[in-house]
Amino acid sequence: MKIISNVNELRNEIKALKTSKGGTVGLVPTMGALHQGHISLVKKARQQNEIVIVSVFVNPTQFGPNEDYDKYPRTLEEDAKLCEEENVDFLFAPSPRDIYDEYYFKNKETTLICPPYDVVNKLCGKSRPGHFDGVCTIVAKLFNITKCDRAYFGKKDAQQLFIIQKMVKDLNFDIEIIGCPIVREADNLAMSSRNTYLDDSARADALNISKALFCAKELFDKGVKDSAILIDTALAVAKNIEVEYAEIVSMNTFEKVDTIENKALMLIAARVNSNGSMVRLIDNIEL
Ligand code: AMP
Repeated sequence: MKIISNVNELRNEIKALKTSKGGTVGLVPTMGALHQGHISLVKKARQQNEIVIVSVFVNPTQFGPNEDYDKYPRTLEEDAKLCEEENVDFLFAPSPRDIYDEYYFKNKETTLICPPYDVVNKLCGKSRPGHFDGVCTIVAKLFNITKCDRAYFGKKDAQQLFIIQKMVKDLNFDIEIIGCPIVREADNLAMSSRNTYLDDSARADALNISKALFCAKELFDKGVKDSAILIDTALAVAKNIEVEYAEIVSMNTFEKVDTIENKALMLIAARVNSNGSMVRLIDNIEL
């Protein structure tokens, strides 16, 4: 596995390997601090492509001014070991200066991809203005840099997956987006790089997010299709957490549904108190 930070070097290496090996290129974009959730994406990419690239980049344009950009966990050495074990071809780990130009650092602005207002200004996008513009921009840049055939995203970030699928369609990227199932700890907590922020008591509180979702799912499976009832039931379980949103949306449109008639998603974002600082976590379940 080659660890590369420079864009042109990566482009040349991909070109060379494509010439000698042929086949398709699979890309797994991440922000690092890799866990088994990320690795499930890497394994899928390895199964489906001759060439596999994992990118590790904590992207400044998707973080708000009061978010955790500076303290976001950076564990490149461990990430490299995990990728090596999965036979990844290239670990692309650029610095912000490899990705953004001088203009960006001087003016704090770059060319952005902005998905439609109604798609981004809800759920996670409501409390994180500009977040999905930053996400789409970096993902589009990674698509252009790697010229990948397939890209792998987790269903844990369901709104992100929906928005990227829309971007690919709207901008005619010739790339197949593969959505991968949520990987959970044994007790059902959704794996997340931000779980490393949690102390023991916050970890126990965080468990109430998945508990709430699974509780709603149980009720749904018993025949309850009314969103308000499912959400109220979930919120009754969501103890010791500060719920930012709990919503049920159509999987096809990501619009709120009052009664579940087709495939839907229930999503929760919540903050848990870990030693005085609030950690924001998200999770969702298919209904
Ligand atoms: P991140 O490093 O948080 O930006 O995540 C990189 C990719 O891994 C995104 O597509 C996430 O949706 C995906 N991912 C993160 N956690 C999980 C998980 N627990 N299960 C499945 N995919 C995940």
